[in-house]
Parts: sequence; C-alpha cells; structure tokens
Amino acid sequence: MRHSHARPRRYRNLWPPAPPKTFQPTPSMERARLAVAVALRDGRIERGPCETCGVAEGVEAHIPDPAQPFALSWRCPLHVPGVQH
Ligand SMILES: [Zn+2]
Repeated sequence: MRHSHARPRRYRNLWPPAPPKTFQPTPSMERARLAVAVALRDGRIERGPCETCGVAEGVEAHIPDPAQPFALSWRCPLHVPGVQH
C-alpha cells in the first residue's frame, strides 16, 4: 500500500485522482522513423525493394501506423502512398 495514490475520502472532491506515473510515450511518426533508423543501423531489419515496382534504389520506409513502426512497407519515392508529385 506504500505506493497507493489513494487520498483520504474528505479530499476527493477537492483534487482529482493523481494520474498514473508510468511512462507511456505517445506514438509519433518522429519516434517511429527513429526506431526504424536505429533498427536499420543495427541490422535488425533490412531495406527491401519498392513493394509497388520492385526498384531497389532510393527506397524509403513507409510507416502507416506510428504505433507499429516495424509494420512498414518499402517504397521508392514514386510510390510512397499519400505523397503528391
Ligand atoms: Zn516504386
């Protein structure tokens, strides 16, 4: 009970309950790209060919969901989804 955030009953209407202190990083594209860059550097994942045309050069990671940075697809600049040319 030492780490309980419970407050005495008489204070409940004065202060809201304390938020949990656990660190929960917000998934962001910046973080996802960093995670992929580090994994590439460490050799944990490998760059693949463009999934649309198969070209091997200039391919970059397309991360649809920043919460799952390794559920990515490799696309050349012409086939990155959502990019206007
Ligand atoms: Zn392509």
